[in-house]
Amino acid sequence: MEKTITVLPGDGIGPEVMKGALRVLKAVEARYGHQFNVTEMPIGGKAIDETGLPLPSETLEQCLKSDAILLGAVGGPKWDGMDKRPEQGLLQIRKELNVFANLRPVKAFAPLADISPLKPELIENVDLIFVRELTGGLYFAQPKGRTGNEEAVDTLYYHSNEIERVVKKAFEIAASRSGKLTSVDKANVLESSKLWRDVVNEMAESFPEVEVEHMLVDNAAMQLVRNPGQFDVIVTENMFGDILSDEASMITGSLGMLASASVSEDGPGLYEPVHGSAPDIAGKNAANPLGMVLSTAMMLRHSFHMNDEADAIEMAVQEVLNANYRTRDIESKKGRISTTDEIVDQLIYRL
Ligand code: ATP
Ligand code: MG
Repeated sequence: MEKTITVLPGDGIGPEVMKGALRVLKAVEARYGHQFNVTEMPIGGKAIDETGLPLPSETLEQCLKSDAILLGAVGGPKWDGMDKRPEQGLLQIRKELNVFANLRPVKAFAPLADISPLKPELIENVDLIFVRELTGGLYFAQPKGRTGNEEAVDTLYYHSNEIERVVKKAFEIAASRSGKLTSVDKANVLESSKLWRDVVNEMAESFPEVEVEHMLVDNAAMQLVRNPGQFDVIVTENMFGDILSDEASMITGSLGMLASASVSEDGPGLYEPVHGSAPDIAGKNAANPLGMVLSTAMMLRHSFHMNDEADAIEMAVQEVLNANYRTRDIESKKGRISTTDEIVDQLIYRL
């Protein structure tokens, strides 16, 4: 297959982990006979330095005409207090691409059990994915703001169309996995949650193979720590998803391991690690590249339907961890500390 990919390395460790991901992608390309046409463009601080804007129009145009986008990370102390901020580039591109669903897998890698705060027997079966609504709800709806010194308002608003499209995405993902979907809301108190629940129940009729459960958000927060292995796909509104997915990310023990995808109805998806630009370790060949590499696997799976290729990358990650190759953020007592490049070498060797 031939695919066009826009690559936005960004700032800090972004370019380092991206370099690793692109090497992995090259290995996949060669082994499976694909052609990936990769174009690199600036975003964030690098784009501010080069053009004065965090998302130059050339970058956006290139993104819009590609099949998928890979993003490293943006930001850093260099641009603190500036009028233009690197993070604006990120918010803007999400908006321009209309990526309303944010997918975050949380998978416990058995060899990393020693760095998880949960007991090994609790995390061994954890393999879940969050589908978070990303462009609506409390973070965006009007009215919003301060009215004088003593009052402030935020609005939790959803149109059923906004709920439908993200819920449909979650059902599709659930149908392609074990077939269990947990919809998280606060329907005992919030009207928008009651609407959310109605939409989920209606959509369920089109997916008879998916088993649906509703869970209140406070209970979900508790269950994620008590027994995370019970979940497969979790769909929820913007703020609940923001909080719960950060909570769940701790199960794996390191930010550096986590991947994410932001997808729209039919435009290009945006794939990026959950971690930020980590200025404290930038330029040291010390960053964990696995979050970026696993984001690349998500791109292959969700945008290109290349499941075998994505499986192969995930399996290579598993094997590299099993063989005790670790960057400092996932350091264990057993192995020595590897550089970013060494981890990538090991992945490619196994691919
Ligand atoms: P942002 O606001 O961009 O999300 P943040 O303040 O959440 O940034 P990160 O940049 O994600 O922070 O870094 C948080 C901590 O985790 C830092 O100490 C950083 O070095 C570490 N870290 C983040 N990503 C990685 C990685 N890929 N490998 C190793 N350490 C990492
Ligand atoms: Mg952060």
